Amino acid sequence: MSLLVVGSVAFDAIQTPFREAERVLGGAAMYFAVAASFFTKVNVVGVVGYDFTARDAEIFRRRGIDTQGLERAPGKTFFWAGKYSADFTDRTTLATDLNVFATFNPKLPSAYRTSPYIFLANIDPTLQRSVLKQVSRRPKLVALDTMNYWIERTPAELRETLRHVDVLLINDTETRQLSGEHNLLRAAAKIRKMGPRTLVIKRGEFGALLVHGDTVFAIPGFLLDEVQDPTGAGDAYAGGFMGYLASVGKHDVKSLRCAMVYGSVLGSFTCERFGPERLRTLTRREIDARARHFAKLTQFSL
Ligand code: AMP
Repeated sequence: MSLLVVGSVAFDAIQTPFREAERVLGGAAMYFAVAASFFTKVNVVGVVGYDFTARDAEIFRRRGIDTQGLERAPGKTFFWAGKYSADFTDRTTLATDLNVFATFNPKLPSAYRTSPYIFLANIDPTLQRSVLKQVSRRPKLVALDTMNYWIERTPAELRETLRHVDVLLINDTETRQLSGEHNLLRAAAKIRKMGPRTLVIKRGEFGALLVHGDTVFAIPGFLLDEVQDPTGAGDAYAGGFMGYLASVGKHDVKSLRCAMVYGSVLGSFTCERFGPERLRTLTRREIDARARHFAKLTQFSL
């Protein structure tokens, strides 16, 4: 079943302890779409500027991603710059130039209005809600990502949007900030009262937690012998998670557990190379092999 993503397509400047680059293709919607495209048909809604070339768009074309909803506006593409600490545990944002994103108003092409699966990547919660208002048929599953910026600056709008969301995928710091609770289980219970029935708490190299009904499920981070760049890993996680659910067309506990594994697999591959480089060469075969590896990594009997 098709999957719609709305969010940023960007150029990133990235500094890691090993390498620096000035213009790397990025954006949450780009990482999400490419990761999800290994599982299902993906439609993208976003905006780029005049500096976004046909060569940049290749990444979508090669993965069969529909970009009818990727608007081109006068101005420069959204730009983000970030720097990682020596051990990758910390990331500092050096610049966020909204450019064409500043006046972005997502418009769903008519073919996207019946999307059964929707992912609202990290953008203004009011814009996220405007996407849901344009949908003509009730989606099977709506998931959302957000960040500290919106939690702090537009809490009321975020709360209103959360009422219309089934799955919230955020990191542990944001979980604590949104709920005002340090304990993650209590935090999850509070957030689930805000709307989302399912909460996925991403914990970077430590994996992720699923809280759904009475189920708590934990997945470790996949241990890599070399991390080059964690940028986009969270969005690729969401892409693997939602892409898998859209491909099986259901979201019972068993499917959600498998989706957690595929999320971790896509997140881990993303970290192996700079920007989206690893995603460009990745194959479904490699994804499935790593998913099986995860099963071995966590299997035991009592
Ligand atoms: P992640 O590493 O998963 O947090 O995602 C990094 C990606 O998010 C980068 O490629 C950025 O271009 C994009 N990004 C950073 N800040 C923002 C923002 N304020 N709004 C939308 N996208 C952003």
